[in-house]
Amino acid sequence: MKYISTRGDKTPRGFSDILLEGLAPDGGLYLPTHYPRIDDATLQRWRTLPYAELAFELLSLYIDDIPSEDLRALCRKTYTAEVFGTPQIVPLRPLGEGVLIEALSNGPTLAFKDMAMQLLGHLFEYELARRGEELNILGATSGDTGSAAEYAMRGKKGVRVFMLSPHGRMSPFQQAQMFSLQDANIHNIAVEGVFDDCQDIVKAVSNDLEFKRRHKIGTVNSINWARLLAQVVYYFAGYFQATKTSTDVVSFAVPSGNFGNICAGHVARMMGLPIRRLVLATNENDVLDEFFRTGTYRVRRSSETHETSSPSMDISKASNFERFVFDLLARDGARVQSLFGQEIAQKGGFTLGASEMAPAASFGFVSGRSTHADRLATIRDAFQRFDTMIDTHTADGLKVAREHLEPGVPMIVLETALPAKFAETIREAIGRDPAPPAALQGIEKLPKRFVVMPVDAGQVKGYIEKHTAV
Ligand SMILES: *Cc1c(COP(=O)(O)O)cnc(C)c1O
Repeated sequence: MKYISTRGDKTPRGFSDILLEGLAPDGGLYLPTHYPRIDDATLQRWRTLPYAELAFELLSLYIDDIPSEDLRALCRKTYTAEVFGTPQIVPLRPLGEGVLIEALSNGPTLAFKDMAMQLLGHLFEYELARRGEELNILGATSGDTGSAAEYAMRGKKGVRVFMLSPHGRMSPFQQAQMFSLQDANIHNIAVEGVFDDCQDIVKAVSNDLEFKRRHKIGTVNSINWARLLAQVVYYFAGYFQATKTSTDVVSFAVPSGNFGNICAGHVARMMGLPIRRLVLATNENDVLDEFFRTGTYRVRRSSETHETSSPSMDISKASNFERFVFDLLARDGARVQSLFGQEIAQKGGFTLGASEMAPAASFGFVSGRSTHADRLATIRDAFQRFDTMIDTHTADGLKVAREHLEPGVPMIVLETALPAKFAETIREAIGRDPAPPAALQGIEKLPKRFVVMPVDAGQVKGYIEKHTAV
């Protein structure tokens, strides 16, 4: 399998070539040249596989430059009951009216990003060792992504993480989650500023190309193809648990922000997984819902981006969305280049015509939005009627899922985080606290490992320099 860019560069690259990279040289995102079709016999064979073996089979279709036995070992190391809490890894639980919740949040940081990031940690370690190289991951976080990256990379050879966060502005729980890591290759830098200051420092350091090259600076952002690929696996795993034969169809509802999760659903569907609808749910930041309803994609300014109670979906533009638009426009790289490379930069967005939008429906997409009041009502309802606590993001997914139920079609709602992470809103909804998961009880009391720094890219560079010296 080879990979090409969404903006027209057709230079074929192997999986290992793009694994450690971000954007393609032309500014586009990488996608495989085609999506392998899964026939009925293969679906039947995959149905009974344990999660790690299923992951291996699926990944093998997209990765042909890692020996099979190595890839299988990486999958087995990643998807264990020890790390993800159950032997099924992503168990389903029913929530009435044909709705099933697929638990993707039982990994170390209690959010679905672990599903992909844990694999990425093993892949990075493997590939860096094979090349005899090192990588220093520099990132900024206000919570979720940073902790998932740190938990994936902790103790991995050849990788260091330098994670900037706004000093004193993360929740005590998130801070404890990150700062309690004692691994020598994890560096927490608390910046005396806000999240945007942290991001600006990352940009400033990355724009110093000489420094970037000398210190082998990289990232683990959500546009990484390997992350997306790892997420395709749980669509298959959810489907198999919800159905008896491959003539059955299901729908998925996905709480969305950067369009990574639901894009993996799109890939699964393109491979022939019998998915009827992909239900995209947004919160008040409804850039994507607006697009699917109107054909207009309008990037928001940060002043127009709401701070909501489902904060991991508070995005102003969706970084993975370009991949979907590439498929929507029949893979016309020149058109994608003019939309994402020019129109967004010049006009802040674009509008697709009815004929260009037509395939969206045949790709199964529908959408909706959910507000704080919806979130509270949905959390309360799930608790009162089904005795189950769901987190705020999952509540957005469930709210919109219920608007698209069809008789005889199971609706799988992806659970993207555990309620324990969002105790304040849970309390507001049902008047009690979610139970903290056993593995993380008491982490607030563990010793913390972090340094505090002013908003100063020079000092961050100095710190990196000191800690990457060999
Ligand atoms: C990242 C995240 C999302 C959004 O996922 P995308 O892949 O960015 O669409 C939703 N919920 C939670 C809890 C997340 O951490």
